[in-house]
Amino acid sequence: MQKALVKDLTALLGRGAVASDEADLLRYGGDALGVYRAFHSAPRLNERASAVVSPESADGISKTLEYATRNSLPVVPYGRGTGVMGAATAIDSGIVLNTQRMNRILKVDADSRTGAFQSGTVLENAHRALAANRLRLGHDPWSRPIATIGGAISTNGVGYTASGHGAMGDQVLGLRVVLGDGEIVETRAVPEALFGSSLNHVFIGTEGSLGVIAEATVQAFRVPVTWEMLCFDFPEFDSGFEAINEVYGQGLRPTVMDYGDELASDGSGGRETATLYLAFEGSEKRVDAYVSDTTAICSRHDGRRGSEAHVRRYWTNRHASALRYKRNVLESEGPDDARKSRSAYRMDYLHVALPVSKVLEYRRKCERLLSNEGVEVREWSVWGRPEFFSFLISGSENGDDGANLGRTVDRVLTLAQSMGGSMEYCHGVGLKLAHLMEAELGTGMSAAHRIKRALDPAGILNPGKAWG
Ligand SMILES: Cc1cc2nc3c(=O)[nH]c(=O)nc-3n(C[C@H](O)[C@H](O)[C@H](O)COP(=O)(O)OP(=O)(O)OC[C@H]3O[C@@H](n4cnc5c(N)ncnc54)[C@H](O)[C@@H]3O)c2cc1C
Repeated sequence: MQKALVKDLTALLGRGAVASDEADLLRYGGDALGVYRAFHSAPRLNERASAVVSPESADGISKTLEYATRNSLPVVPYGRGTGVMGAATAIDSGIVLNTQRMNRILKVDADSRTGAFQSGTVLENAHRALAANRLRLGHDPWSRPIATIGGAISTNGVGYTASGHGAMGDQVLGLRVVLGDGEIVETRAVPEALFGSSLNHVFIGTEGSLGVIAEATVQAFRVPVTWEMLCFDFPEFDSGFEAINEVYGQGLRPTVMDYGDELASDGSGGRETATLYLAFEGSEKRVDAYVSDTTAICSRHDGRRGSEAHVRRYWTNRHASALRYKRNVLESEGPDDARKSRSAYRMDYLHVALPVSKVLEYRRKCERLLSNEGVEVREWSVWGRPEFFSFLISGSENGDDGANLGRTVDRVLTLAQSMGGSMEYCHGVGLKLAHLMEAELGTGMSAAHRIKRALDPAGILNPGKAWG
């Protein structure tokens, strides 16, 4: 069966584009969802594809999908496998469609401030191509050195500059996409969609389940004339959050907003000072006004200006975790083993989106719920918008098999849903959150399923994940 598949795919795409040896199946078989965070879906991390194909163009993707539809084979699109929800993990006996060779910069239009890229282009390379034209990408996640344009669009990722430029999906102008049956379609890269919702939104954040993105045209942004970054320390979380709420309420729009507190390192169970990082950009006059207004607001809420050295360190180190991941996992001899060796911890990070008015109430409810379950909160934070609320938790290391932590995670996520929020703003659904999708979409799930059937009639694209 596997031999016949490899022979067919090689005939379609050429020898260099197909791999089926154990090392490649393992390398491209998993993403950054560790066993420790996968909870009930952990057994599915052991599934193995039969082949990895690496096309160079939309045409190659089309041939693969047309073949897979004819033979009812599952296909998992794969950028760099840095997703943290298991959306890019292999499916038994299926095909991994690796976009690594689709890494061409297609066009940079400095006058219109746009860039067009093949989907496997790593964000850092897209960023560099734009920088040569005094432009930059509006999406700057921790994982900029390791994630692809296609992966970022398909997860609708959020980065450091999301406060100014939105999530990755907000910056997409047009896509070249291959549908489940192999048809290549283009959503024209126009400045504003004419009819209904932009078709781009069918493919943004849907984790390769409705089509495989071959190329993307995105909005780029000028390198600012003036950029000022500053930080404020607050005595406790609530006062800093109130300051943020007032900054946004007054229409002041920072490009970067990152706020949070951490568990004290002295073991006392107390919390470190909460710190708010902000960056403003534009003309010097405008930035001065923003800084002065923001400083006044923060002072009213007991915020004290932090040092420039602190701010510089924060900004310089923003990609450090991704560079570590690149070195320790992506560039290691055996990425699968490297991924598994990271599974010793018993922790999770959660990113819910809530109405602003509910954020502090939600935090209080979670504090009670988590403390009753013996779960420690290492960090509370707000990133990119006052509505985007994150926390890093760790469970007991004494004999807990993770089941309790998994159940507790479900409880805080469904709590966010019941308070008018959404269970994840940043990383998508994948294997990890598939079981909560009915609660997330409600009656909209039926419309979503009809769209899925229309665009992927044989159900070959990333089945059994976000769609259950
Ligand atoms: C150290 C580290 C830091 C991170 N920091 C951030 C962060 O700051 N912000 C953030 O949002 N995320 C972050 N992530 C998560 C991850 O980097 C993002 O989810 C990223 O967008 C995934 O990109 P990728 O190319 O690796 O995609 P993959 O993990 O390969 O795939 C992700 C999903 O997209 C689909 N997909 C991939 N390419 C295509 C395509 N061409 N067409 C259709 N579907 C496709 C896959 O099937 C899968 O469903 C971080 C991860 C790590 C390991």
